[in-house]
Amino acid sequence: MLQNEYLKRVYEEVQRRDSHEPEFLQAVLEVFESLELVVDKHPEWEKAGLIERFVEPERVVEFRVPWVDDNGNTRVNRGYRVQYNSAIGPYKGGLRFHPSVNLSVIKFLGFEQILKNSLTTLPMGGGKGGSDFDPKGKSDGEVMRFCQSFMTELYRHIGQFTDTPAGDIGVGAREVGYMFGQYKRIVDRFDGGVITGKGLTFGGSLARTQATGYGLCYFGAEALKHLKGESYAGKTVVVSGSGNVAQYAAEKCTQLGGKVVAMSDSQGYIYDPRGIDLKKLFDIKQRRRARISVYADEVPGSEYHEGCRNIWNVKCDIAMPCASQNEMDAEGAKALIANGAIAVFEGANMPLTPEAIALVQGSGLLYSPGKASNAGGVATSGLEMSQNSIRMSWSFEEVDEKLQGIMKNIYKACYDASVECGRPGDLMVGANVAGFLKVAEAMMAQGVV
Ligand code: NDP
Repeated sequence: MLQNEYLKRVYEEVQRRDSHEPEFLQAVLEVFESLELVVDKHPEWEKAGLIERFVEPERVVEFRVPWVDDNGNTRVNRGYRVQYNSAIGPYKGGLRFHPSVNLSVIKFLGFEQILKNSLTTLPMGGGKGGSDFDPKGKSDGEVMRFCQSFMTELYRHIGQFTDTPAGDIGVGAREVGYMFGQYKRIVDRFDGGVITGKGLTFGGSLARTQATGYGLCYFGAEALKHLKGESYAGKTVVVSGSGNVAQYAAEKCTQLGGKVVAMSDSQGYIYDPRGIDLKKLFDIKQRRRARISVYADEVPGSEYHEGCRNIWNVKCDIAMPCASQNEMDAEGAKALIANGAIAVFEGANMPLTPEAIALVQGSGLLYSPGKASNAGGVATSGLEMSQNSIRMSWSFEEVDEKLQGIMKNIYKACYDASVECGRPGDLMVGANVAGFLKVAEAMMAQGVV
């Protein structure tokens, strides 16, 4: 429960206006609980209506996306772009194509993105977008026609100095390529900085594909070393999901000496006690775009279990949830704790329910919120924009080195803020406070806008 009167009043107003947006309310409350530790020291914020402005998106765009399927039928999806906060730079944040997408989901992601982008130290504001379109089971032609239709509306709202989308769930290199192609055709300009996650032949950055998963492990390694005197070496790891973030989190943590024994998709999870064969997994997911159950069909000694939520019953030292929001609830957290886990590093956005976070933190596990530990993706998107601006490409090693530096700095900023708030090692408080203070200062300096 919030104690501070100002935050309480603003939260009640958000609840009243947006009562039908549960994910958004959950994200706001989590951030407000951290801000209680600093808001008392800044009475000027209330006078300036700072928190009221912070929770209200600068602009929300919702639009129709009509397209024609392979059978000649017309389909209609709903598209969104939430341009949340541009105090420290142009809006920046991914596009999600998934049937569960609605305004609540996009607003929660956009809100989190403000703080995440601030933590990267790069000049990027917060935004997010997407559609309830499901790319799964669609032909390449259908995905292309959908992406072209989506961009035919979105193009008028974006630009390298306004808003730069990127990928997220259901939006990878294929979708970004189709959207960039349509944007270029409409505006008749090769404006590389308009979208990130592009292919390497047309302005993409080396290491962007790996960045979120690799960055997660760099952050985790730093936290393990500093707070527990530990490392990934010899640890058993469970990674949920098997998409972009999960694949490269598994790869990097394996390189750092960890053993990933379980991974999942939305239907179920695989368990391989000898450690997941990542070459096989990449082939199934990247080339064949098949279900994760195929792994157990083809790898002797591995098992497939229906129901992705049960993945947290697998005994491990480190858990890295990399699938979707609220994928680990209190039951999942209890199972991890009972099995002696030492850390939970979030790769997805808001994968733990508030109850799960309370249990994990209450039991002394090391916990990092996604907005800090998955910020390597957007940070490297920022590096992609830098390369587009200077018309140069950096090597994989150069980008990876910058990414490692950024993740170490994010960890330090979170830890230092946690100390200043009197909660040393509480990286959730640290991430929320460190991310917010920079945005708050910029908003105060720019007046009531
Ligand atoms: P992908 O689409 O590449 O992969 C998503 C994975 O999660 C798939 O294995 C998918 O299974 C599974 N999944 C999706 N929805 C659910 C669900 N409701 N329950 C269980 N499993 C689910 O997405 P990303 O890897 O890009 O994104 C994963 C998470 O990381 C998201 O929260 C995203 O916002 C976050 N993130 C991504 C970044 C990036 O750079 N890509 C950057 C920062 C955060 P299936 O194939 O069966 O649907």
